[in-house]
Amino acid sequence: MKIGFIGLGNMGGPMAANLVKAGHAVTGFDLAAPMPEGVAGATSAAQAAEGAEVVITMLPNGAILRAVADEVIPAMSAGAVLCDCSTVDVESARAVADRAAAAGLGALDAPVSGGVGGAAAGTLTFMVGGGDAAFATVKPLFEIMGQKAVHCGAAGAGQAAKICNNMILGATMIATCEAFALADKLGLDRARMFDVVSTSSGYSWSMNAYCPAPGVGPQSPADNGYKPGFAADLMLKDLRLSQQAAEAADADTPMGALAAALYARFVEEEDGRGKDFSAMLPRFEKRGRG
Ligand code: NAD
Repeated sequence: MKIGFIGLGNMGGPMAANLVKAGHAVTGFDLAAPMPEGVAGATSAAQAAEGAEVVITMLPNGAILRAVADEVIPAMSAGAVLCDCSTVDVESARAVADRAAAAGLGALDAPVSGGVGGAAAGTLTFMVGGGDAAFATVKPLFEIMGQKAVHCGAAGAGQAAKICNNMILGATMIATCEAFALADKLGLDRARMFDVVSTSSGYSWSMNAYCPAPGVGPQSPADNGYKPGFAADLMLKDLRLSQQAAEAADADTPMGALAAALYARFVEEEDGRGKDFSAMLPRFEKRGRG
């Protein structure tokens, strides 16, 4: 397939490289990042999109996505599909889908989970919003870049699934970390705490698969000095998107709001920037109730 790929950073670079390895012809454009091996470099986003059957974007936020979409949509051939894999606000995803549809193009919002490791290994999960025909066109590419693609519904449904999942994850990680800090103060051994909770009703992905306590449970960023992994900054971005969506939809999300406020404080006022999101545990360790 002829593919345009715009945004070849930490995630987009390895995703594009996997498409090349699978034999697809990929033309890329990025303002800063180098072209991965085998990706032909274009001089603009529009040039990368010209003649492509599928244009994939992997960009920092919704404002940039809207600007790039304005540039590439007029350059795309009728019937082609614009597939955005960035994590952006639901409104931007829907606005871009509307613009693409008006130009006779298919559009998908297809944010991912799995991080940089999943992008490199081709094991991402795609959460996809958009039409059936566009999903069918891009599905073989999802199968190369990932291990699972769930068609969640119409435009915006992929972003909705992503921010709901990460709102649960942020709140659960905080609950797991504060419980470990409480257990410490109660004199409970962390390994025993893990043994009990990971097999009791407090279990979760945060505890069982990504335990925030070093030396306890499976290998996780806690065992590597809290080097991300999934950075607290990115968790904050996703929690803010979930709060933005909750406000727009008049949904009551008090735990999500508190998780967003705690990660904001951690990243912007404390020492959380650049650390894994599970570094909430050393944060709680240092604190009392005050
Ligand atoms: P990144 O900053 O490494 O990559 C973004 C790239 O977009 C950069 O190389 C930048 O130069 C390029 N870019 C910015 N504006 C551009 C423009 N106008 N035209 C062309 N290129 C432009 O970020 P990333 O970690 O690759 O994340 C990309 C997206 O994936 C984000 O939306 C992020 O939230 C999401 N995401 C990231 C992770 C992760 O673990 N890194 C996990 C899941 C989802």
